[in-house]
Amino acid sequence: MTDIKSLSREELTQFIQELGQPAFRGKQIFQWLHRGVTSLDEMTDLPKALREALQEKVFISAPQVVRKQVSQQDGTMKYLWRLADGHCIETVLMKYRHGNSVCISSQVGCRMGCTFCASALGGKVRDLTPGEMLDQVLFTQIDSGEPISNIVLMGIGEPLDNYDNVMKFLKLVNHPEGMDIGMRHISLSTCGLVTGIDRLAEEQLQLTLSISLHAPDDETRSKLMPINRADNVEALMAACRRYFQKTGRRISYEYAMIDGVNDTAEQADLLAKLLRGAPGHVNLIPLNHVDESSFAPSRRVAAFQKRLEKQGVAVTVRRRLGSDIDASCGQLRRKAMAKDGVAAGQDRRECDAI
Ligand code: SAH
Repeated sequence: MTDIKSLSREELTQFIQELGQPAFRGKQIFQWLHRGVTSLDEMTDLPKALREALQEKVFISAPQVVRKQVSQQDGTMKYLWRLADGHCIETVLMKYRHGNSVCISSQVGCRMGCTFCASALGGKVRDLTPGEMLDQVLFTQIDSGEPISNIVLMGIGEPLDNYDNVMKFLKLVNHPEGMDIGMRHISLSTCGLVTGIDRLAEEQLQLTLSISLHAPDDETRSKLMPINRADNVEALMAACRRYFQKTGRRISYEYAMIDGVNDTAEQADLLAKLLRGAPGHVNLIPLNHVDESSFAPSRRVAAFQKRLEKQGVAVTVRRRLGSDIDASCGQLRRKAMAKDGVAAGQDRRECDAI
């Protein structure tokens, strides 16, 4: 069975033509899929014979809502979805004055192992398909009734560790016959995979690249993020400079503030120095508490911010949205799994008990 929603616009036309159909049927089907229909029968302008022929060859992905939480504080909505094979992922809808933004997952679990992150616990189960990433945008919009104008790839998973599917997803969601979300309205966050950053630079996309930096020195960063042992701070910053030179796009650097770990004055100075050759903007993130971790949120966020600003660094502190509903990545899935008594990857029906 072909996963029809994961086909690019061109692949879909080719697929349809191979069935002896005219090319315009490809466009019709693409438009139906990207409006969120869940069955071929809903594609009412297709001949019945074609729908029947497709029935035997394709399936249309559609995640089920396992759980939905709405923040009383700010209206942030969090979805826990069950995919066709039983695995669960999370999507968060955030409401801003400039429009609604959806934070999507790119993998089931994550193999990057960052020590402060809930998504890393339990490792990676599998990559998400392009269709499964699109579904998160599509069905969050449909279920919530809120039009979505922005996407951040900052949910569960490492997008550059699922490179080809993520690129295909970006082209699908950006397509004028589909959701038509502009690349300038999309951010992709990475823990810092150097080869992935270099590949992405070649694509010349107008999206915003976010780098999860979290520490300006190798000693601290290697403790927080195992990837730093392969691609260290120097290699990462060199890739960021190449990215900026190639694309002209400023980079956003994420920095989760952890008490006594990465929040000293010396580290602020080091960070400012690091960013001199790689223009961008620093986003300080108050650490979200993760039950399994001993890290605590920093008490020096304002001082750290001030020290960076004094050295000419553009810096903001991320607003905490949805903190009453476990809205940071991986936490809801984690809790669902804990409740079920199942470790990630060991059971295909890890979310059934909710
Ligand atoms: N794998 C990608 C994208 C997913 S994580 C990446 O690493 O960038 C999205 C962001 O949330 C990353 O910057 C990540 O480091 C950060 N993050 C993870 N756990 C966190 C926590 N407990 N508190 C604050 N930020 C966290």
